[in-house]
Amino acid sequence: MPCSNRSRKVERRPKDRPWPVDGMVPPNNLCGPVVRVLVIEDEARIAEILQEALSRSGFVVDPVRRCAEAREALSLTSYDGVVLDLGLPDGDGLTLLADLQSSRNRVPVLVLTARDTVQDRVSGLDAGADDYLVKPFATVEVVARIKALLRRPGGALGVTLQAGNVLFDTVGRDVCVGAAALPLPRRESAILEHLMRRLGRVVPKTVLEERLYGLDDELESNAIPVHVHHLRRKLEAAGATAEIYTVRGVGYLLTERRD
Ligand code: CA
Repeated sequence: MPCSNRSRKVERRPKDRPWPVDGMVPPNNLCGPVVRVLVIEDEARIAEILQEALSRSGFVVDPVRRCAEAREALSLTSYDGVVLDLGLPDGDGLTLLADLQSSRNRVPVLVLTARDTVQDRVSGLDAGADDYLVKPFATVEVVARIKALLRRPGGALGVTLQAGNVLFDTVGRDVCVGAAALPLPRRESAILEHLMRRLGRVVPKTVLEERLYGLDDELESNAIPVHVHHLRRKLEAAGATAEIYTVRGVGYLLTERRD
């Protein structure tokens, strides 16, 4: 499915977002998963380099420059990974990290900082950082470290998900129903992945929209229901023992059929 067909009729977010929206668009290489990374970095040049490198690697990147903006972004959107600079203009990144831990937000965090003493490293890891990189850094290393975090168990990359007889290989992006491959367009594949990651739980439609589109995207209000409709029919036709239910006014639920 060509993603260039993304509709732009209904505006989803006000344009006065507290964080910059430039470049918050899905990657152009549309074969991979939709993986969102929040980059919290106040130095414009570094933020720009990170955004460019991570976008080129296929991530949807939301850049913010302050703790307050990061908190708001984290409260509004579900991220797969965070790159966090510790020295921020309105606070210490370590405090933000501690808040993430106490809120049980399990998003993996790569701390990026100029503080290079052993004690700083220990503080960062103690506060819940999953990895730590000292400036100046090589951009390729940041990307490699983020990918490594996302490949950890429970991360956005590198797992096989299962629901009934439906298997989803998140590395190869292959879906199988029983022994047969089920080819899916990218957005249907992304919806299925998200529902499988939350098997048995209701996923709000707004969350699927957040996952599938960039923050500054505009899309038709029925975009998600249409994708879900197609996905449901394909799963049924393939004999899947997992079904998508619509929870009216809320979202969708994937369950395994017991019969
Ligand atoms: Ca800084």
